[in-house]
Amino acid sequence: MKTTQQYLLEHGIKPSVQRMAIMDYLLKNHTHPTVDEIYTNLQHKIPTLSKTTVYNTLKLFVKQGTALFIDIDEKNARFDGVMEAHAHFRCKQCGCIIDIPLPEIQHLLPENAGFSIDEAYINIKGLCEKCQTESCN
Ligand SMILES: [Zn+2]
Ligand SMILES: [Zn+2]
Repeated sequence: MKTTQQYLLEHGIKPSVQRMAIMDYLLKNHTHPTVDEIYTNLQHKIPTLSKTTVYNTLKLFVKQGTALFIDIDEKNARFDGVMEAHAHFRCKQCGCIIDIPLPEIQHLLPENAGFSIDEAYINIKGLCEKCQTESCN
């Protein structure tokens, strides 16, 4: 089992306490957090943390390939620690974002297209199961 410290080092990131805490948060919480969410959840653990640090750290993670920037929410930049190609579903009512695995993504390409996929950004919007049920009442 790789530690967060090793993971960051392998991607050329100097593992400071703040960076390790932010990376851990991304790996443990698949909520596709915003800068605010990460800041709010970590500030009691790291009193020296600022929103600017969170933002700059996430930018570094995206550049070095340990996080993805998710362009699915018009109001907030969101980040993802899951690096395997996957699609996102966003509920228009409650705003939840759910990962959709795409093991078959290669099949979306025309046959013999002659290229391989490294990254994919697929955003699907609608109503989640919970919101569909609630709107019926
Ligand atoms: Zn919903
Ligand atoms: Zn995701």
